[in-house]
Formats: sequence, structure tokens, C-alpha cells
Amino acid sequence: MIPIAKLVGPEVIADVATPANVRLGTALADDRAVKLDATDSGGVEGWVGGGDSATQRRRVALWVDKQVLKWSCTCTNEPKLFCKHLVAAAITVRDSATK
Ligand SMILES: [Zn+2]
Repeated sequence: MIPIAKLVGPEVIADVATPANVRLGTALADDRAVKLDATDSGGVEGWVGGGDSATQRRRVALWVDKQVLKWSCTCTNEPKLFCKHLVAAAITVRDSATK
């Protein structure tokens, strides 16, 4: 199991992401628009978006630093923003952890 899976529960995501981004990110995850790989450090990185519009693809990463969830996405330079791409990645991590 990916170690960060337990850090991306629904209550955590609801806390760091706006309701609009939770909704949009859930739709992205439902569309299976997320491609993630586990990293050696226990996180994940990969691509979100794409489908018919490859220009919409964003590079995302989720990882743990000293028990704290960290993230990045190429759609923003605002480090505190947990965008829809990251919501989609978090949901995908959760789903894959329960399988
Ligand atoms: Zn993003």
C-alpha cells in the first residue's frame, strides 16, 4: 500500500481543497484521467487530465515530509492551493489503496 494513502482521506481533502475543486477533481478521477506512479519516497507522481485534450495535462506530486502531506501541481505557482488535479490524484490513491 502506498504510505500516503492514509493521509489523503476525504476529511483531509475537504479541509485543504475548495468545494469546487473537490467536485471538479472527483469528476477527473471518475473519468480515469489520472496516471500515477509510486515514488521511492512513499509518495506518488504522475499526470492528471488529458483525454482528448493533451494540453490540459498537469504534472502532480503528493508526498510525505515528516508525517505532513505535501503536494505540487504544475497548474499553479501557489503552494498552498490543493487544486482539482491534486484532488483527483488523492482520490485515485485512495481507490488504489483499497483494492
Ligand atoms: Zn493542478
